[in-house]
Order: sequence, then C-alpha cells, then structure tokens
Amino acid sequence: MAAKHVLRRRPVIGVGDSEGACDEGLWCGDDRVVEEFVMEQCVPSYLFAFAVGELGFREVGPRTRVYAEKVEGVLDGAGREFAGTEEMIRVGERLFGGYEWERFDLLVLPPSFPYGGMENPRMVFLTPTVIKGDATGAQVVAHELAHSWTGNLITNKSNDHFWLNEGFTTYAERRIVEAVQGVDIATLNTGIGWRGLVDEMERFKDNLEFTKLRTNQEGVDPDDVYSQVPYEKGFQFLWRIERQVGRPAFDDFLKKYISTFKFQSIDTDMFLDFLKANLPGIEKEIDLELWTEGTGIPPDAMEPVSSIYSKIISLANELKQGRMPNDDEVAHWRGQEWELYLENVNKPLEASQVSSLDKRYRLSESKDYEVKVAFLQLAISSNCKDYFGEVEKTLKEVGRMKYLRPLYTALVQGPGKEEEKLFARRLFSEARNCYHPIAQGVVEAILTKYC
Ligand SMILES: [Zn+2]
Repeated sequence: MAAKHVLRRRPVIGVGDSEGACDEGLWCGDDRVVEEFVMEQCVPSYLFAFAVGELGFREVGPRTRVYAEKVEGVLDGAGREFAGTEEMIRVGERLFGGYEWERFDLLVLPPSFPYGGMENPRMVFLTPTVIKGDATGAQVVAHELAHSWTGNLITNKSNDHFWLNEGFTTYAERRIVEAVQGVDIATLNTGIGWRGLVDEMERFKDNLEFTKLRTNQEGVDPDDVYSQVPYEKGFQFLWRIERQVGRPAFDDFLKKYISTFKFQSIDTDMFLDFLKANLPGIEKEIDLELWTEGTGIPPDAMEPVSSIYSKIISLANELKQGRMPNDDEVAHWRGQEWELYLENVNKPLEASQVSSLDKRYRLSESKDYEVKVAFLQLAISSNCKDYFGEVEKTLKEVGRMKYLRPLYTALVQGPGKEEEKLFARRLFSEARNCYHPIAQGVVEAILTKYC
C-alpha cells in the first residue's frame, strides 16, 4: 500500500509531539508514526481494508503487482498463476466499460484468510489456496476483478439485495473466463455453481426465505445465512435474461446499466425498473417476480450444456455402480473436472470404493484444495476412516470457510457419529486460534447445531 501513485500521502498536522517529517508526508514522534491516505473514488466502508506484514512483490502487468509474504515459493508461484491478469482486465473493459480504479494489485494473504478473495478496490485480497500451479486459480481473480464493475462501482443498498453484487459478479466472472480460457472451462465453472445451488436448496429446506434473491435479513447475522444463492441464483437470473434477449442486446444492456448507476448504491426495485425500461416487454417473457421474490430454483433456470460437462456427470453417476473412470477418460482433467466429478458422485459409497479411487488417482494428496476437500468430504460421508489423518491436517493448515464448512458438516451431520463428533470437537479446539473470528463463528454454529 506504500506506492505513492496508489494512495497519496499527506502530513498530519498536530498529532502528539511529532518532531518533524522523517519522510515525505510521514511524521514520526516518540513511538508513533502517522500516515494519512487519500483515495479519490468513493467506496462504501466494507471495501476498506488494511494489511500489515513483511511483503515482497512481483510485477505481473502494467497495472498489477502481486504482493505476498516472503515465504518460500509463494511469490514466484503467485507471479506465474496470475500472469494473465492484464488480459482479463482488458476483456473486462471491453465487456463492461473502462476500469475506473487505476491499479489492480493482488495481495496473497496467509492460509487463515477465511474467503477465496475480497474485492477491495485497487488491491484485491486472496487466499493462498488459489495458487494451484495451473492458472485455474485465476478464476477467483476473474471474480474479484469483475467486482470492479459490479459491486464496487454499483453497490447493493443493503444485504437484502446482496445478489446485485454477487449474481452480477458471478455472471461477469464467467464471461471473462469464457473469453480468456474458453467456453468449455466457463461451462464447467457454471456446472460447479449449479451443483452448489442445488445443495443450498437442501441446506435451507426448513428456511426457504434464504433461497430468495431479495431477502429480508432484519435481525439476521449475514454470516449465518451466507450461501451460494445470491451468487448462483443471481447468475441464473441474468443468464435467463441473456437467453431471452440474445447476447448482443444483453451486452448493450449491461454496459448501459453500469454507466448509469456507477458510484451509486441500488436495490432490486431500481434494477427491475431499469430492466423493464431498457428491455421493453421482458416482464411478459420472464416471471421477474418469481425470480426475485420466489423461493427455490425457478423452472426456467438451466443446468449448463456441453459434451465435457455431460460426460463428467455421467462418469460420476457410474461410480455408484462400481465403474471408475479409466486413465484415458481423465487424461486431460485438471482440478475443475475432478471437483465437478467428486461433487456429483452419489454419496455414500462403499469405503473400499473410496480407497480404490484414491489409490488410482491420488486425490487425497492433491495440491488443489478444491479437489482434496471434495474427496475428503466423499470419504467422510462414506465412513472411510482411513482419511481422518488427512482431514485433520487439512483443517489445521487452512482457514478458508469454503473448506471448513463442508468438512466439519460432513463429520457431524447425521445420526450416530459419536466418534466423528468427538474428533470434530477436538480438532476445532486445537485449530480454532488459527481461524479468523468469522470462520470460528461458522464452525461453532455447525457444532452447536449437530453436536
Ligand atoms: Zn464476490
């Protein structure tokens, strides 16, 4: 954050017993140092963040540096993983209009960071788990970059309208991924999202309010109801509109939406009014009220279609019947294909099926946490205790909620499970100090609900 072209420093007058400037604009006195930063663009307060540490950096593009702690291999790995960032920014500009924030720097945080990324303008914060070694981690960057238009430029007025931030950003992320990595990869991304949305319907089956796009969160802690719904149902809504009006018309609409509302906070009604005014007759083709006020997944939502996607889903279904994919079928699979496969396997399996799958493809040792966690979840649900050592190691080395939530839930949910519950409680008591307070709260809530 020290770069002067990022944030202008100004001396602070009259602070304590400051004895003079020890650097331009930096005042030191006694044991205090005071700096004041000025940013020209307005942002809501949730987008303001500090990071303090001993950081190094690599230049990865004309407006992008990646910063990280000077831990062996992290900076070089991040530099390679995010080498394509400038290309993504240019795609974003072509699709959504000029990039308004000047810099797009990336900061890789320690493994306890509870989110995949946080879209702080000018410097996105990232979990180190996105450094996968095959550039697929760039998809999280595509998501945070997309927030530069949807979320940071146009912000939801309150959390009841969170889908305006995340649904639009998920849509924009997939458009960027499609342009840079191709339509097949974007389709897999959509497929993983679809699976996540279907699973959330099960999670909220006793509390359907939180399957709506526009929610009422009066008296509710947003962290308690955080889910894929605003992301994936929001994405589905926008994709439905795109299918109705065609891509060129929808692209024009998006650009106009962004330029009309930039640097403003809006709600669902303002979006719907703008939609009806700019795509006349849309309300006769799509049930807008069902999409925004209704519970569940609307009948005109859609699972993605592609031959690779369908092949993976049918292979996942075949595993239950005892057929494992052969080497040729998985020859070109990267993390995303495996993640989609594992998440679509019908649980539980026989414990022996889980071990043979791992013996052949070494999924429990994957360096890609998405794959490893999806496999461990399958192992726990199939009562395959051989992997509890790996579960313990994983839950003690990362604090990303995307992994904590399914692993702890798989351990304690369901009848019986006394041994697993004891195991989960011991793990949490030993690991909790390494988790972020929000992540601690999430795990506590899971344990309270099921133990
Ligand atoms: Zn987001």
